Amino acid sequence: MIRLLPVFSALLMGCHMASVPDTDPGVSRNLARYRQGTVTGPRYQLRFSLPEERSHPVRGEVTLSFEWSGGDHPLILDFDRPRSRVAAISVNGEEAVAEYTEDHILLPPGLFRRGKNSVSLAFEAGDDALNRNDEFMYTLFVPDRASTAFPCFDQPDLKARFRLTLEIPSSWTAIANGELRTEINWKKRTILGFEETAAIPTYLFSFVAGKFRVVTAERAGRRMRFLHRETDQFRLDRNRDRLFDLHATALAWLEAYTGIPYPFAKFDFALVPSFQYNGMEHPGAILYRADSLLLEDSPTQDQELRRAGLIAHETAHMWFGNLVTMEWFDDVWMKEVFANFMAAKIVHPFFPKLNHDLRFLMAHYPVAYDVDRTAGANPIRQDLPNMKEAGSLYGAIIYKKAPIVMRMLEELTGEAAFRKGVRDYLSEYSFRNASWPDLVGILDRKTSIDLREWSRTWVEKAGRPEIRVDLVQDNEGKIVTLLLRQDPVRKQPLSLLLGKKTLPVTLDDPELAVREAKGLPVPDFFLPNGRGRGYGRFVLDPSSRSHLLQHLPKLEDPLLRGISWLTLWDDMLEGEIPPGALFDLAIRALKFEEEELNVSRFLHDLNTLYWRFLSVEDRTRFAPNLESFLLDRIAKSEKASLKSAFFRTFRSVVLSSEGVTKLRRIWNGTKSIPGIGFSESDRATLALEIAMRLPGEAETVLMTQRERMRNPDRKRRFEFVSPAISPDVATREAFFKSLKNPANREHEPWVLEAVHYLHHPLRAADSIRWIRPSLDLLLETRETGDIFFPKRWLDATLWGHRSEAPAEVVRTFLEEHPDYPEKLRGKILQTADELFRAADILQH
Ligand SMILES: [Zn+2]
Repeated sequence: MIRLLPVFSALLMGCHMASVPDTDPGVSRNLARYRQGTVTGPRYQLRFSLPEERSHPVRGEVTLSFEWSGGDHPLILDFDRPRSRVAAISVNGEEAVAEYTEDHILLPPGLFRRGKNSVSLAFEAGDDALNRNDEFMYTLFVPDRASTAFPCFDQPDLKARFRLTLEIPSSWTAIANGELRTEINWKKRTILGFEETAAIPTYLFSFVAGKFRVVTAERAGRRMRFLHRETDQFRLDRNRDRLFDLHATALAWLEAYTGIPYPFAKFDFALVPSFQYNGMEHPGAILYRADSLLLEDSPTQDQELRRAGLIAHETAHMWFGNLVTMEWFDDVWMKEVFANFMAAKIVHPFFPKLNHDLRFLMAHYPVAYDVDRTAGANPIRQDLPNMKEAGSLYGAIIYKKAPIVMRMLEELTGEAAFRKGVRDYLSEYSFRNASWPDLVGILDRKTSIDLREWSRTWVEKAGRPEIRVDLVQDNEGKIVTLLLRQDPVRKQPLSLLLGKKTLPVTLDDPELAVREAKGLPVPDFFLPNGRGRGYGRFVLDPSSRSHLLQHLPKLEDPLLRGISWLTLWDDMLEGEIPPGALFDLAIRALKFEEEELNVSRFLHDLNTLYWRFLSVEDRTRFAPNLESFLLDRIAKSEKASLKSAFFRTFRSVVLSSEGVTKLRRIWNGTKSIPGIGFSESDRATLALEIAMRLPGEAETVLMTQRERMRNPDRKRRFEFVSPAISPDVATREAFFKSLKNPANREHEPWVLEAVHYLHHPLRAADSIRWIRPSLDLLLETRETGDIFFPKRWLDATLWGHRSEAPAEVVRTFLEEHPDYPEKLRGKILQTADELFRAADILQH
């Protein structure tokens, strides 16, 4: 608690009732509840003046009007700025005196009347969430950063209408949530007036302004536009139509599924260079990372899929999250699960030949398991006492496990009943807020299963059940009893595979006797997760394990090959299979694998095995053969996307001097690979990988690349990352130290790329010294960085390490901080899990 005027202090101190506001830093659940109960229908009239000079402050004015139902407590606005940044407050037209705490402005209750009120303020905005660059800026307020830019009620259940005016340099352009209504040009400045928005939460309010070019198109009678800064005209031309088509198809699909027309007035998006996330769903002004939408020449199928999935995801948010919003951020997973779940359905028609079950498996399970098998696993729905911790809720469990669980729910409920429930939920809560129990209440009426119990085990508990098969057979090789055991018990439908025969079962007890199996011949292998729809650690019996390890490439069904691979991967991590044996299987499987989704997964894991789980001697010994194997696959693959996938792996694993020379010739253009084109960013990555491997020539390679680069945004990024590759440890040390200044962490994707190279396995012996200071910085990155940054910071820091020494650094840090914030501690344990396992496996 912070200093208060005596009159307020008496009212606020010592009150612990749920509906009493507090002025703790951030927005507490209590404050939010109190405001929700006393404030209705907020409207913001906002004006921002954006200077051309990045160093000059952004100034603003706001008039906030709302209905007030009275009370004895002050009105509390959220504004995370010193009081010196606020001027001229008036309440209902009269000048007013406010009290300030760290994150709040308090206005005495006596100034307000029941019914309509308004508060006007002039202020200087903080830059934290304005993402200011030399030629452009954009707001990113999710989850609680609107209050760094302007005074507001920064909580999701006080949805408001926003009327925005922007004053910008005349050479700039801008989009916002509302349609542009007026434009006035005056002395090199332009004043843009935007239409008032529908009711949206503060985290969705947004604008983008700067030197952008605008592309317009019409699809199905709707005008759409996007802003971009791409300088490569071919790259733009190649992608433009596809971007509009993907959005239009997603919109049409969602309108049909939900029965509700697109809920907002207009549809624009912006391609932002080095945007922190892949996308953010601001209604009328979606922001995307430019590189995620403008694909390079010969993209892999995986990149195409990701792009289609990303566009579908952000578009689905218009209904799920934007039209109906969670009450509080503890339910942020709901908007994400629906966006991902719908996206998976939407991308179907774009890829008619795609194996969608396999796609769902590969897109969700490995990433969800990577968290859920660790000691840091978190449940889907998590408590959130204060908005300032909201960023820590995001992660693989929300994005990957929740859609798996939702699909299970759809299967248990039935597709039609599920869809009807979703429609009822959307129409009942349109332009309002709803919680998970609200949806459970609606769906519960449509199903015979106990949805509340189901939610308690799957949504509110962390981790995955362990499922194993127990078999008794007779002398003739026939099954006498077959038991499926699950611990802990979670209701789930499974398909038990016995060689070629599938038996559907529903697990709902610690032990299930599969009667249909009695008398059947014992098959070559059992796979409890036959169709890949179950969720858990499926423990293989020794003979199934060795059968699959031997014969996986010969399994006919690509889905089955994928499921088997993921199951064996779990076995490797548990120490049941030596990494070398799985590495060998990956090579054998990749020789014949034609299903690109499997190729991507095998290559990804091959890379991890190579850098993290093979001993240094094995890695060095395998390198030349692996390189020639990959070169052979590049040459022999017919599809450009497959060539590209194999090439990326080659680029990442190459170690032999012959291989590096080849890479260098590709980079400088003296060697080409038929079927693969190399863009400016491809060449930049090549230069970094080469410089890492050829310390003597690093400087020349990096300088040559820098001089070649035309796109100013990419060039700045390259310059930023380069010192992290330096052969000189002192230069890298200085670079790492520079990251302690939050201003140098502003461009998060740049930082993450640099940190990734800093901790490259080839440099692990040098970089171990930066692990501890990186952990020490973690808490601060939660304050200064965007929501995904702390986890990604950890990922980039630990990925290149595998021995006992770095594992010990992490353990010591955790021991020395017994009171460390729980969610962040969870993130450390999630990221360090593979390091711990690798250190353990390599020691034995
Ligand atoms: Zn999302």
